[in-house]
Amino acid sequence: MIPESLFTPQTNDWKLSLSRAFRRQADLLEYCELDVNGTTHGSETDFPVRVTRYYASLIEKGNAKDPLLLQVLADKREQQSVPGYSLDAVGDMAAMKAPGLIHKYHSRVLLTVTGACPIHCRYCFRRHFPYSDSSPDLQLHSEVMSYLSSHREINEVILSGGDPLMLSDQKLSSLIRQLNQLSHIRYLRIHSRLLSVLPERINPELVAVFSRFRGKVIFVTHINHPQELSGVNAQSLQLLSAQGFQLFNQSVLLKEVNDSAAVLAELSYRLFDYQIIPYYLHKLDKVQGAAHFDLPDERLCAIYRELCARLPGYLTPKFVNELSGRTSKTPVQCF
Ligand SMILES: *Cc1c(COP(=O)(O)O)cnc(C)c1O
Ligand code: SF4
Repeated sequence: MIPESLFTPQTNDWKLSLSRAFRRQADLLEYCELDVNGTTHGSETDFPVRVTRYYASLIEKGNAKDPLLLQVLADKREQQSVPGYSLDAVGDMAAMKAPGLIHKYHSRVLLTVTGACPIHCRYCFRRHFPYSDSSPDLQLHSEVMSYLSSHREINEVILSGGDPLMLSDQKLSSLIRQLNQLSHIRYLRIHSRLLSVLPERINPELVAVFSRFRGKVIFVTHINHPQELSGVNAQSLQLLSAQGFQLFNQSVLLKEVNDSAAVLAELSYRLFDYQIIPYYLHKLDKVQGAAHFDLPDERLCAIYRELCARLPGYLTPKFVNELSGRTSKTPVQCF
């Protein structure tokens, strides 16, 4: 599913960093100074362990419960089949209108431009997504272009994946050139986790590529825990905000990772320090292999209500659920 060629060392620094990512559970554990033979660790069959050195450097050594480690460590419980957890939890397959183009909501479409990710988040709702059949290649697939041209109600294209920033500058440029031909596409949104995973990817060249988009650029980061913000990614963030891109963050509420109002409130404040507005707090998608990150609804709502009480409205993310067949994200009813 993940094209191997994307991980071979190239001349750019970020590609070199990418090639040095951990790809084996044992190597990651050893680096984190944890027992490699621990019995709770899972096998890595269909969704291999992958994490960059940068992200791993933010993990506290010797702490088996580190909230960043838990997001990337394969766990035995992933192999259990839990009722109510499916392969396509959010109904993306039904909403795919052209290869890689998901049109669920009226004014915006999501383009899964690549299946590659430099980190494998164990709770990922796309862990079973058949990317090889659904990633438009270099040139935007003519089917995607004709769908976009004939749907004038679409004013926003969201680049997603995988991680869209795994594409080369050249591929992204070509994509933007094509989108620039469609006058009704006024917003370009990038959903990327690389800010906390491979911050060197967000360099002046990349920013220059996006600034060639004719309309407004929105950058949505994916950060779940305040520990994922450090001095290093602050520089990347400054590049984005200096360019006038609008910055938002989305998180997923995950058991043992960030299931506390204090942690989530701290995350909001830290994001705000970097000009990022907390946008969504997602309820875990019920995808097979991720059930051990879930919490009972009452507990989730108790955390969210406390979060609302702690934060000003402008730093409170919307707590939402992605449900098949809906016309927007669904607010989780906690009040
Ligand atoms: C989440 C999502 C969007 C974006 O929704 P917003 O509410 O605009 O952030 C668009 N398309 C799909 C398929 C999505 O899952
Ligand atoms: S970065 Fe996003 S798409 Fe990639 S594994 Fe993590 S959650 Fe999934």
